[in-house]
Amino acid sequence: MTIRTYIGLGSNLGDSQQILSEAVAKLATLGAVQVSRLYQSPPMGPQDQPNYLNAVVQLDTTLAPLALLDQLQQFEQESGRVRLRRWGERTLDLDLLIYGQEQIQNERLTVPHIGLLQRDFVIIPLLDLDAHLQLNGHSLKDLELVQQANLTVIADQSWATA
Ligand code: ATP
Ligand code: MG
Ligand code: MG
Repeated sequence: MTIRTYIGLGSNLGDSQQILSEAVAKLATLGAVQVSRLYQSPPMGPQDQPNYLNAVVQLDTTLAPLALLDQLQQFEQESGRVRLRRWGERTLDLDLLIYGQEQIQNERLTVPHIGLLQRDFVIIPLLDLDAHLQLNGHSLKDLELVQQANLTVIADQSWATA
C-alpha cells in the first residue's frame, strides 16, 4: 500500500540548491515525488548563520515510517551533515512532516512533525503541493502564519529538475 507523505527539506551550508536537488533525486528512488517551489528563509534558532533554502517534497511510498526515517537520515549523512549545535547550520535537513493520517510518537519519530504549525517555511511549500491540505481537521491555508509568512520564492516548481 502506498502512503502519501510530505518531507521538509532545508539547507544553509554548501551549494544548497545543488544539495536540495540531489536530495529530491534520492527521494524519487523511494516513490513518486512532487516538489514545491524553492524558498529562502531566515534562520530559526541561532541567528549567526546563513539564510536557508527550503522546499517540501510530496512522496508516495510503501516504506514504513521508521524505514523512511532511516533513508532520510542516510541521505543527510551522504550530504556531509555534521551536528554542530541545535538548529544550527547544516548541509541538509530532511524532516518527515506528514505520513498519511498517522499520528506517531516514539523515541525516533514525532509525526506530524512537532514544529509544523509554527513554521512558515514548511506551511507555505506544503500549500504549493496541496492548497487544501488539512491537519487534524484544520485547513493549513487558514492559519494566520500564512498571511505573515517571512520567506522569499527563489524558483518555481521546476527548480529540482532544471
Ligand atoms: P527540528 O526537528 O526542530 O526541525 P532538526 O531538524 O534540526 O530540528 P535533527 O537534528 O535533524 O533536528 O533531528 C533530531 C532528531 O529528531 C532525529 O534524530 C530524529 O530521530 C528526531 N525526529 C523526531 N521526529 C522526527 C520527524 N518527524 N522527522 C525527522 N526527525 C525526527
Ligand atoms: Mg528540522
Ligand atoms: Mg531534522
